[in-house]
Amino acid sequence: MEFTLYCQWCGTQFRTHKMTARYCCQRCSKLAYKARKKTEKIKAFDASKVKNQTIENKPFLSPTEVGTLLGLSRATVYRHLALGRIKCVRIGCRTRIRRIDIEKVFDKAIVCRKREKDDRPTELYYSTKEILEKFGIEKKTLYRRCRMYGIEKIADGNRTLYDRALIDKYFDDLIEDVDLDRYYTMAEVMKRYGMTRSAVTTFVMRNAIPRIKKHHDVYYSRAHFDAARQKMGGFNPEYYSYAEIKDSYGFNRDQIRYYVNKYQIPHKKQGSFTLVLRSGFDFVMKQHMGGNAVKREL
Ligand SMILES: [Zn+2]
Repeated sequence: MEFTLYCQWCGTQFRTHKMTARYCCQRCSKLAYKARKKTEKIKAFDASKVKNQTIENKPFLSPTEVGTLLGLSRATVYRHLALGRIKCVRIGCRTRIRRIDIEKVFDKAIVCRKREKDDRPTELYYSTKEILEKFGIEKKTLYRRCRMYGIEKIADGNRTLYDRALIDKYFDDLIEDVDLDRYYTMAEVMKRYGMTRSAVTTFVMRNAIPRIKKHHDVYYSRAHFDAARQKMGGFNPEYYSYAEIKDSYGFNRDQIRYYVNKYQIPHKKQGSFTLVLRSGFDFVMKQHMGGNAVKREL
């Protein structure tokens, strides 16, 4: 069955099998489609204009409206609100932002630093990662040294940068290889003085022996260590230091003092140390403690 219809674009009469046909030819159909899209676009534009106008007249805005105003997504606006970059007030479950607060954000804006194209710090700055790699240190060392030398962090987006010249100046000593003529390794100290690892640690701490930490190894100043040991009477195998007893028996200072006094174990003061006769202490432990205190093999 054939119908006679009028083209909705050019008005020509045409014959067709479909009652729903609106255009006489493909060309008319295309042109009509384009015209329809154009009108839609204009309408949308007008609508957004009206919306923007209403936003512009509002003293208080919702996060969505702020997004429209600044050309940001709603999520981005919320993120800035959470970071406190834009002031906002929650009223019930609504968030409202004062228009003047948005303008204030621009008033106190800091100067934008242009980022390097390859996203690496310029030759003026080090990133945290670069410092850690270059000087072979840990984060806590970096922070401690920065505090010590008053080197300020520079926030750059989500990265932290450090002044390259300052870091190079103050961290220079880290880059030299440790001079093993001047420093003991932990293993050397343990062997030379027959101390356990924790005895060394305690000794170093008590005597404030200068040390260098590098790549997870610790080096102790030979001169200082030897001097401190000498002051203590050198390595006297007949006597225990408290630290050594602590290592061997796991007693604290008070416990050691208690046993020494109670069983009158021979002991002597040397500098700031108390030395306890080794054989005496071991004997007392064996006699009085039975199986309760088991001396750990050193
Ligand atoms: Zn037509």
